[in-house]
Amino acid sequence: MSELMVVTGAAGFLGSHLCDALLARGYEVLALDDFSTGTPSNLAHLDQHPGFRLLRHDITEPLPPQADGASGIFNLACPASPLHYQRRPVQTVLASTIGLNNVLETARRANARVLQASTSEVYGDPLVHPQSERYFGNVNPLGPRACYDEGKRCAEALCLAYRRQYGLQVRIARIFNSYGPRLLPGDGRVVSNFISQAIAGQPLTVYGSGEQTRSFCFVEDTIDGLVRLMLSEVEQPLNIGATDEHTMLELAQIVLKLTGSNSPLVRQPLPVDDPRRRRPDIGNARRLLGWTPRVSLNEGLRRTIRHFRQTLRTPALES
Ligand code: UDP
Repeated sequence: MSELMVVTGAAGFLGSHLCDALLARGYEVLALDDFSTGTPSNLAHLDQHPGFRLLRHDITEPLPPQADGASGIFNLACPASPLHYQRRPVQTVLASTIGLNNVLETARRANARVLQASTSEVYGDPLVHPQSERYFGNVNPLGPRACYDEGKRCAEALCLAYRRQYGLQVRIARIFNSYGPRLLPGDGRVVSNFISQAIAGQPLTVYGSGEQTRSFCFVEDTIDGLVRLMLSEVEQPLNIGATDEHTMLELAQIVLKLTGSNSPLVRQPLPVDDPRRRRPDIGNARRLLGWTPRVSLNEGLRRTIRHFRQTLRTPALES
């Protein structure tokens, strides 16, 4: 019998791609999701897969007994788009604390390893650039992003507490902005917004000056990093992200070019505490995992746009 991996948040954007990658590597997968921000349609193609099982489950409740057979648990269950986590701040904190505690307790019983999906948001609005794992961050603990940022920081602390106190095997991935097929059009994150708007011929909503930067990693690369980290012996938190940094204005121009859209740009207010610059130092992931992002932004966006056109069933615009 093959090894069982549990994926929480399996119906989400990253979770669903992770299920595909694990099944392709020959693992059995128990997928858990409460469908609060993910959608079963992301996993519909796995319905008939003999190694795959999906259960509706909210991780703030103890994990189902089937998870006790796991050799690894990938904990991805948490709203991840600023739009979603700020609409559900209580559930966001609880997923990262009570939810993670349930995951860690199951892992203790099962003698399983845990990979915690952490985030570049642990660095807040960073004063150090690029961000290496040694940087402690600049987080506003009281602002509207705190539910996510502090929730994920506490989650890292809880993982390390279980390692120190109980010797549990934990892996921590600080995931930077990722994008790709299966981002939902209503996700609220910038890549999803710009592509849906461009395809629909609506104005692209640029928040603030648009000079703020992010570094976007294609989902396939992100998932490869997560699987490598889980299978490695690396105990320190690792940044997983791409290193080519773009302003939101640049991103808007690239999306317009690749979609062939004539949409104008429209300014909207910059959200409170929106980080001004973000780019990971991935020297550790390169060295310790032999991992590096391979898909260029242009190629990744092309594939993502193709997916959005299929889901939105909108014919290609003339370029
Ligand atoms: N953003 C934007 N227009 C949008 C959505 C987001 O200009 O329609 C900006 C947002 O202010 C931020 C960046 O894009 O500076 C990335 O936002 P996102 O919500 O994708 O992720 P974040 O990195 O902030 O978690």
